[in-house]
Amino acid sequence: MSTNAESKRSQSGEAVPYRGEQPYGKLDDLVVPKVLDLDSDERLWVPQAEDVSFRPLLLSVSQGYFVNLLRVRKSGILSRHRHAGPVHAVTLKGRWHYLEHEWWAEEGGYSFEPPGDIHTLEVPDGVDGMVTLFHVTGAYIYVDPDGNAVGVEDVFSKLEAARKHYEAVGLGADYVERFIR
Ligand code: FE
Repeated sequence: MSTNAESKRSQSGEAVPYRGEQPYGKLDDLVVPKVLDLDSDERLWVPQAEDVSFRPLLLSVSQGYFVNLLRVRKSGILSRHRHAGPVHAVTLKGRWHYLEHEWWAEEGGYSFEPPGDIHTLEVPDGVDGMVTLFHVTGAYIYVDPDGNAVGVEDVFSKLEAARKHYEAVGLGADYVERFIR
């Protein structure tokens, strides 16, 4: 930016930081570097099944949601589930779809999964996996083909899995606390 533009910004007051205190009770902000560096420290990836792992970015125990990267290194069916809340997804690598829908999640694309949707995630043959950023509110309710619940996952199960993993790999169980809000 030119010096001229900078001095204009400061003259107009735009570049002057807020002087006061932050509101009492406000949570700390949270910054996670290098989330697009998919070959970053392997210890950050929490195994959740064979060839499936996740990397937490934000574990919101106060609002009941989590933001994470999901990494799948195989093709095939991942899970059948119902969502108790909305899901936002940005596919960073590979492609995948739900057996129940015609659309595909493809590298660089965004998708929204509405609350109540019941679907079965598949990574197709010929794709050597995927990485997707998921913002998941509420819970995954794992179901059989008739919709009967067989399991559940939410921010608290993610948190517990991450705590155990970070302890096991030597980062310490409390490493996960940086992601909690
Ligand atoms: Fe889903």
